[in-house]
Amino acid sequence: MKNMKISFQLKNDFTKSLPGDSDTTNTPRQVYNACYSFVEPKKPSNPSLIHASLDLAEEMGITKDQLYSQDFLNIFSGKQVMVNTQPYAMCYGGHQFGNWAGQLGDGRAINLGEIEHHDQRWQLQLKGAGPTPYSRQADGLAVLRSSIREHLCSEAMHYLGVPTTRSLSLVLTGDRVLRDIMYDGHPAYEKGAIVCRAAPSFIRFGNFQIFAARRDFKNLKILTDYTINEYFPHLSHLDPKISYLQFFQDVVNTTIDMVIHWNRVGFVHGVMNTDNMSIHGLTIDYGPYGWLDGYDHLWTPNTTDRHQRRYRFGHQGYIALWNLYQLANSLFLLIEESQPLEAILEQAQADYKIKHSNMMAEKLGFNQSLSGDEDLIVELEELLQLHETDMTIFFRNLAQFDENNYSEKLEEIPAYLTEAFYEPLLLKEEHNVAWLDWLDKYRNRLDSENQSPAARSKKMNSVNPKYVLRNYMAQLAIDDADKGDYELIKSLAEILKKPYDEQPEAAQWFVKRPDWARDKIGCSMLSCSS
Ligand code: AMP
Ligand code: MG
Repeated sequence: MKNMKISFQLKNDFTKSLPGDSDTTNTPRQVYNACYSFVEPKKPSNPSLIHASLDLAEEMGITKDQLYSQDFLNIFSGKQVMVNTQPYAMCYGGHQFGNWAGQLGDGRAINLGEIEHHDQRWQLQLKGAGPTPYSRQADGLAVLRSSIREHLCSEAMHYLGVPTTRSLSLVLTGDRVLRDIMYDGHPAYEKGAIVCRAAPSFIRFGNFQIFAARRDFKNLKILTDYTINEYFPHLSHLDPKISYLQFFQDVVNTTIDMVIHWNRVGFVHGVMNTDNMSIHGLTIDYGPYGWLDGYDHLWTPNTTDRHQRRYRFGHQGYIALWNLYQLANSLFLLIEESQPLEAILEQAQADYKIKHSNMMAEKLGFNQSLSGDEDLIVELEELLQLHETDMTIFFRNLAQFDENNYSEKLEEIPAYLTEAFYEPLLLKEEHNVAWLDWLDKYRNRLDSENQSPAARSKKMNSVNPKYVLRNYMAQLAIDDADKGDYELIKSLAEILKKPYDEQPEAAQWFVKRPDWARDKIGCSMLSCSS
């Protein structure tokens, strides 16, 4: 590791422009009239770099030499605070699992400041760097397993084209952290780690909600004006009330688009609380998230939510709208008229449905949408759930369908599709018939299009990924990393940079979830313990 001086500068617009906590002690408390509290990261005892995202660093203007330098490690492990910077934790509230939870805030995230490069801005935030005034009873730390999951998944999402916060680095702290993984009375020590997250900002719905809940109109307005001026500058010249409404409309649009992307790739966030909703429509806070193996609207990886399944795959659109409704309630205090907000929300429901259908039509390779597609899509979504069918393999292999090979109804389901069935030999006769009926309709539908199978297949392969971070893949990387072997983290990070490419050398990951992973903790069962 070189001893290279870090040359980049961090700005601190957020703290310069917005009111801060006058109390600078680092003790858990309610923080009023403030958007943030200054706080220093905890010094790790023996930090080491496990993995860094070189491409992201380069986008930020951080050179390779700097990235792998001792200075970088010191700063991004929290061991050293950069000169002329003052790290801080943000104050926000939120609805957790449908209930207002009051003040939450960055309990274990510490913002270092903002880096600017080529007209792009990135807030840099250490997750797991020690307690803050918002830590409540918790320790402010993060364990290696959850940090690996966040680091790998946020980068994988980016390369899939899903709006997301990024992860610059994954550092081991050298300290131990006590966690009860399944909240069942079996606490154990685990390795501590820190991820450096990056996003234009980490402002969430909850940042507005906390001021609204406290009837702190003054700071609600200050924060909203700041957010619009900094991140929605195309709205800043408008009359204030119109700009707030338009700001809300923008957040509605990007939030819906984000969930549609989740539906496209089979991602289940797991904890869509309003404090985990970015105002930029970015996927944020990778906790007990998961990837669909079998396509299943009811599935959630989050065992904490296993009874209610509030955040299940098929409910994410509804929840996004529910969360937007909460944001609308906060902004209402500035807009003072409910009707235009309600109109936006009503339109949002309709938009969501249309966008979902359009996205599914793209997955199926249709050039333009036709009446009747809606039914075909709903039928397919039902079929996929009759018999456990791997989502990624099914859609990827569907690109092999060539309507010219079938002059009439198919007599059997093509092998490249049965490959997606978890128990192909147990497929019921009536399900087989239903599949053949659907494939016949699909064949006819494709016949009505002026598109060669080769051209369609190419387009389908650009929206139906071949490689996603299946839950068991992340778990294998975690198991190795626990033993000090980081090779799998590195190789998965590389493969997941090109999720739509064939990458024959990576074909071992284009397979159904192995049986051992079906009900394994960490694979299909995750809790909020992290
Ligand atoms: P999450 O479920 O990760 O979105 O976290 C919800 C709230 O709990 C946020 O305010 C977090 O900052 C806080 N939190 C989660 N884990 C910890 C921890 N280990 N220490 C302190 N605060 C935490
Ligand atoms: Mg959170």
